Amino acid sequence: MKMPFENSLPFAQQVDKEDTLAPFRNQYFIPEKEGKPIVYLCGNSLGLQPKTTSAYLQQELEDWKSHAVEGHFEAKNPWFKSQHLFSKAADIVGALPGEVVVMNTLTVNLHLMMVSFYKPQGKRYKILMEGGAFPSDQYAVESQLNFHGYNYPEGVIELKPREGEFTLRTEDIVNSIAQHADEIALVMMGGVNYYTGQLYDLKTITEAGHKAGALMGFDLAHAAGNVPLQLHNWEVDFAVWCSYKYLNSGPGGPGGVFVHEKHGNNTNIVRFAGWWGNDESTRFLMQPGFKAQKGAAGWQLSNAQVLAMAAHKASLDIFSQTTMPQLRSKSLLLTGFLEFLLKEKIKNHQLDIKIITPENSDERGCQLSLLTRSNGKKMFDKLTANGVVADWREPNVIRIAPTPMYNTFEDVYRFVALL
Ligand SMILES: *Cc1c(COP(=O)(O)O)cnc(C)c1O
Repeated sequence: MKMPFENSLPFAQQVDKEDTLAPFRNQYFIPEKEGKPIVYLCGNSLGLQPKTTSAYLQQELEDWKSHAVEGHFEAKNPWFKSQHLFSKAADIVGALPGEVVVMNTLTVNLHLMMVSFYKPQGKRYKILMEGGAFPSDQYAVESQLNFHGYNYPEGVIELKPREGEFTLRTEDIVNSIAQHADEIALVMMGGVNYYTGQLYDLKTITEAGHKAGALMGFDLAHAAGNVPLQLHNWEVDFAVWCSYKYLNSGPGGPGGVFVHEKHGNNTNIVRFAGWWGNDESTRFLMQPGFKAQKGAAGWQLSNAQVLAMAAHKASLDIFSQTTMPQLRSKSLLLTGFLEFLLKEKIKNHQLDIKIITPENSDERGCQLSLLTRSNGKKMFDKLTANGVVADWREPNVIRIAPTPMYNTFEDVYRFVALL
């Protein structure tokens, strides 16, 4: 998967011309600045709007307008049936259709999953996670520990990179899990770390966690729609993600949840329940006594957020026109090109940054994180003034995420030329 890259605009334009996924860009609105499309490299934070989104939303508004409550059954996409959406989401994360549900938002879902899958007992009560995880994940873990009567940070085992390194080595993750084997109740990590862009080896980590007798959960906020996943085959116990980053489903869009079928088939697993998770055949009998339906859907609480799900569906229908492996092949080239251009500039002393994302493309998604050494914020502000939308993370990191769905090689070239 190496391509002889060239540092020139005509080269970038030529690769765009030959890129079979290039037409997808046309399905999205690209914001403009002074009449020119911006260079949008922030799909890891909020993905762009598909041109079809408003029609999908409009359909639901029309159905509500003309059918009111009957829309639950008579809408074009009957509101009480959202399963078609779940199986599209399942395709993206490598799950069986019944293993995925779309509901709530990410942090809410992380709590719901920990209610069911963080089962501290005796000496085995700790949660192992990566150091510097996204704050919401840290707070969720902290409050779950407190909820069960344990102390934070005492109940957390945080993985830290080796001295002088920025990312975790798989062998160190595996060794830490083994070393604490009798204390860990749950391993809960990101799939791709939001800060460094490191893609963890989910399969190997899951095996290590299970060998230690722990359950395995992942926060895939930065992985879903970014890298191919095989959650079912890897035997991950649960996973959660959001739909507004790489999945382009709009601000605050609905979250996704994966529960492996080995748990989903067990309707006796304790959970925080609501009527929408009840067995469909008895849901509307309105009787006491919760009976979970099988699969991830048994964790639903409320009836569907129809408007938000319509936007999600608009995006997933575009994902259905390609595959994650196809997107990944382009992504490897696109991010490879970005890395190549940055390295040339660093080598020529035109740029004082360090790329802290792993060099090995198996250990990253589309994002590169650039550690700025001097004038970082100034450099970032200059980029913004010149029509580049990237992401600044305190104290000194610029995150650049060229997404294969709508970014071009020319975007990448223009960004580096401006640096
Ligand atoms: C984006 C992100 C979140 C955001 O959580 P919400 O509940 O959707 O606000 C949480 N965790 C990680 C790792 C993220 O990247």
